Amino acid sequence: MPFKVEREAINDKFLDRRVKMLPCQKEQVISLYNRGASIRGIARMYNVDKRLIQFIIFPERHKKNLQDRKDRGGSSIYYDKENHTKQMREHRRYKHEVLHGITIKYVKCPIKFIQMANKDGYVLEYRLIMANQLGRPLLNTECVHHIDHNPTNNDITNLMLFATNKDHKVYEAGGIVQPLWQP
Ligand SMILES: [Zn+2]
Repeated sequence: MPFKVEREAINDKFLDRRVKMLPCQKEQVISLYNRGASIRGIARMYNVDKRLIQFIIFPERHKKNLQDRKDRGGSSIYYDKENHTKQMREHRRYKHEVLHGITIKYVKCPIKFIQMANKDGYVLEYRLIMANQLGRPLLNTECVHHIDHNPTNNDITNLMLFATNKDHKVYEAGGIVQPLWQP
């Protein structure tokens, strides 16, 4: 037998969960606030959002909130989208930094060195700086070394170029290798 749920209108305001606070409770909130209770504390006490408490204590803020929402065309998106995207990008970079300890910088590759670029048209900044120094694109086999071992320090005086990664490794291991370029 299918089970039929009986729906009954909620007449009791205490049971209606859409009503967060009753008028008498709102009065209590104001009185508590006037006696020095914190907004956070009151919100916790009634198990509601801090913002609701704020709106009860400062009705003009609630009014402004409603007006702002209207100005947005009733949209619930209250943040600046462009700014948000920027912030998120910033945050991702930050997380990457925390995870890897460093940020390897990619830059848009100029047309004359486009064979160095990845599919998105970007190139590692230090490879581009070396290419600019030599006045020619780097070969895929060529390897840039950071003298201070800090891959974010892309100053040309911190870079060396080796013909291959093998040469680079030999150099790192203290072997004698002639770099293609050094400051
Ligand atoms: Zn190196």
